[in-house]
Amino acid sequence: MSVKIIPVDPFDLIIFGASGDLARRKILPALYQRFLASQIPPETRIIGTARSGWDSAAFRTEIKTSLEKYIPESRRDADSIARFLTRLHYHPVDVKGDKGWDALVALVNDTPNPVRAFYLSVAPALFGPIASQLSQRGLRTADSRIVVEKPFGHDLASAQELNKQLAHCFREDQIYRIDHYLGKETVQNLMALRFANSLLEPVWNAQHIDHIQITVAETIGVEGRGAYYDKSGAMRDMVQNHLMQMLCLTAMEPPARFEANDVRDEKLKVIRSLEDVPLPDIVRGQYRANGDSASYRDDAGNPDSTTESFIALKVRVSNWRWAGVPFYLRTGKRLRARMSEIVVIFKDPPHSIFPHPEQRHNSNSLVIRLQPDEAITMHMNIKEPGQGGFRLTEVPLDMSFAETLGDGRMADAYERLLMDVIRGDQTLFMRGDEVEAAWRWADPIIARWQEAEDIPEPYDAGGSGPDGSLALIHHDNRRWRPIEA
Ligand code: NAD
Repeated sequence: MSVKIIPVDPFDLIIFGASGDLARRKILPALYQRFLASQIPPETRIIGTARSGWDSAAFRTEIKTSLEKYIPESRRDADSIARFLTRLHYHPVDVKGDKGWDALVALVNDTPNPVRAFYLSVAPALFGPIASQLSQRGLRTADSRIVVEKPFGHDLASAQELNKQLAHCFREDQIYRIDHYLGKETVQNLMALRFANSLLEPVWNAQHIDHIQITVAETIGVEGRGAYYDKSGAMRDMVQNHLMQMLCLTAMEPPARFEANDVRDEKLKVIRSLEDVPLPDIVRGQYRANGDSASYRDDAGNPDSTTESFIALKVRVSNWRWAGVPFYLRTGKRLRARMSEIVVIFKDPPHSIFPHPEQRHNSNSLVIRLQPDEAITMHMNIKEPGQGGFRLTEVPLDMSFAETLGDGRMADAYERLLMDVIRGDQTLFMRGDEVEAAWRWADPIIARWQEAEDIPEPYDAGGSGPDGSLALIHHDNRRWRPIEA
């Protein structure tokens, strides 16, 4: 099967924070991959700006180094990189002041392309100042787009403030709030699987589904982000956004049309249906030193920290479809493997005709895997092949997308999301009310453990999280799928 490339209109993408880690590691490599796939028209300009006092030539040299680092050798050659670099321009601006803006405005307004997008790859405190400068300096056009990165707020009040600052200068249909999990091929395939097939939807409910597990496990610790992370923790950093989006796509009703607002309306309804989570259904953990791995407190540089580097929650979606079906969510750092997956565990058949122990079977499960590889696998039971006796065995029905589609390469989420911005398709971006609703759910949960002065349970770096997380699900006679790559 080959992947169809639909070229986008020529565009000007203005990246604020173009010298930063995200721009070098994700945004510019993603643009290069789209360029290589011939999706980017020749007139397109990628205009970088940041505090670094470079000119366009220095920017190109820096980005060349980044591409050599982040693009696999098989996908790059000197000629393609050289051609891509000619699209790059740069002008330094300290967005907190007035210096540099006039030259940036002149550069952007010089032979502009039909589509204009601003990518704010900077700290959220700069979203408001940049948006108002864009508006005051006439850079914002009637349909220009603004892309903002996570974290979108620290709580409901700060998210509302960010929304207000952006809304002051841009309409909601111009604002693209990125959650890169939504750009993953498999996450979108979950929608295709559910709504383009008639097989699953009739059993996608409390009558047939026992429970759902959503896991995002990381092997890394807080790395260089200790100071930021210690004020945030796993609930704010991962659950309120990434796990919430995965939950929404799993639990939502079929939208009337596959259009941005229809899809986002349905996701919003899921968030509004979430029940409050009582303390016994929350397990917070913090990794301790193990072997060569330092403790969270050492990594974060805070010996008294009570921030969670792991959280497991039992969440209920209070509506007709999901009444009585628990959604177990867990995410953590310094776990034994890097993996993200959604697992839908179906109920057992109402009556087993296979009474002997060797004929026992596992429940059917649908595993939607996002990391490290992307795949959707349905686990079914069949008769073990061969003569002599009758035993059941589990077989995976596998759909390994990377191998079955296109050039054998799974496009990075940023590639998809960037092209959606240029096309003006907001389906895979979070709407302002969605983000606020997610904080409205998360805030009281965080407040509850803060009031109770909850101390996270220690767990070994390199393990599967705290014992309390196992107990949370064992208590319901269920078990987590193992954390393994
Ligand atoms: P970074 O610190 O590496 O880069 C920040 C960039 O902002 C630099 O280019 C810097 O020059 C620029 N900048 C800072 N102050 C400025 C000012 N006053 N005027 C003009 N430019 C200024 O940060 P990053 O890791 O690239 O992250 C950027 C944003 O994306 C942050 O909000 C971060 O939370 C978010 N994010 C990053 C990642 C990631 O993997 N790096 C992932 C998700 C979200």
